[in-house]
Amino acid sequence: MADDVKRVVVIGAGYIGAEIAEQFSVTGKKVTLIDGFDRVLPKNFSPVITDRLEAAFQENDVTLALQQLVTGFEDAADGGIRVTTNQGTYEADIAVLGIGFLPNTDLFKGQVDMLPNGAILTNAYMETSLPDVYAAGDATTVFYNPTQAYDYIPLATNAIRQGMLVARNIDGHHLAYSGTQATSAVELYGYAMSATGLNKGSAEARGLDVVETVHEEDYRPDFMLSTTPVLSTLTWDRKTRRVLGAAFMSKHDITQAANVVSLAIQNQMTIDDLAMADFFFQPNFTQPVNFVGATALQAVSDAQNKN
Ligand SMILES: Cc1cc2nc3c(=O)[nH]c(=O)nc-3n(C[C@H](O)[C@H](O)[C@H](O)COP(=O)(O)OP(=O)(O)OC[C@H]3O[C@@H](n4cnc5c(N)ncnc54)[C@H](O)[C@@H]3O)c2cc1C
Repeated sequence: MADDVKRVVVIGAGYIGAEIAEQFSVTGKKVTLIDGFDRVLPKNFSPVITDRLEAAFQENDVTLALQQLVTGFEDAADGGIRVTTNQGTYEADIAVLGIGFLPNTDLFKGQVDMLPNGAILTNAYMETSLPDVYAAGDATTVFYNPTQAYDYIPLATNAIRQGMLVARNIDGHHLAYSGTQATSAVELYGYAMSATGLNKGSAEARGLDVVETVHEEDYRPDFMLSTTPVLSTLTWDRKTRRVLGAAFMSKHDITQAANVVSLAIQNQMTIDDLAMADFFFQPNFTQPVNFVGATALQAVSDAQNKN
């Protein structure tokens, strides 16, 4: 980025906006991060995690302009840009938008069935509503296992598997799509963060009655030369105890834990199944009860205490 860019406004505090804001701030730019929600990464992580991330943004001199919607852009007198929101104005040398995706499927409107946002509906074999026409990737819907419903979740992980399924199923129904948990990860200010499925807020927004268990412990025993905490959240259905989501944050790379819980969601496991799953213990890497199992054990205990 040119040295004459000193002030940056980033609009959208999802994964992409958060990463852009972080990178500009660590390279010495004065950054303002704007979002309509009241916190950063609201769709992926619960407040217990995003509170810590917001503290890291503030320590790095990023202005968080949250709970405000951008209403316009104007040229500023100094040659920069003025961004107006429903709460104020922010001047910068450049503004960057990271405000989400829309499927670019106008070409196919009226020919194949779509969601109202234009995402093409397919069955589990990637067939559209039109015989012999298949669809995959960001143009399509995916089956979202936590809600057992079709949703629009544009990720490379989905696109790659859908592409393989088109090839497998082009001459018949050979392999059905197993759905997605929208498992994802990001690294911000030295925090490794990963998430899978729903958090409490996103579950409640979909009308689900869930409990969120919060657990924090060191990733390995304190008799080792070093260790550091892992903050975990586990979201589960209050009635069925089915695991619906999890998220993790640590200065140690614990991101693969989201893949573990992704499998639990895909296989419709309960907190009881996850609490008794066989995970290894070796003090270089983990506690005798690894933090995923420990979080699930705490969920079982939370469930007992609530009854
Ligand atoms: C900044 C950023 C970071 C991301 N990071 C991640 C990540 O870390 N993990 C993850 O899982 N996902 C990530 N994604 C999402 C990921 O990039 C997409 O989900 C993935 O690329 C979708 O693949 P696709 O083949 O469906 O679409 P694309 O990769 O968008 O490819 C579609 C192609 O079709 C072409 N095209 C479109 N219309 C036409 C037409 N009419 N005629 C001919 N060609 C056409 C386009 O030019 C394009 O080359 C990220 C996305 C962005 C923008």
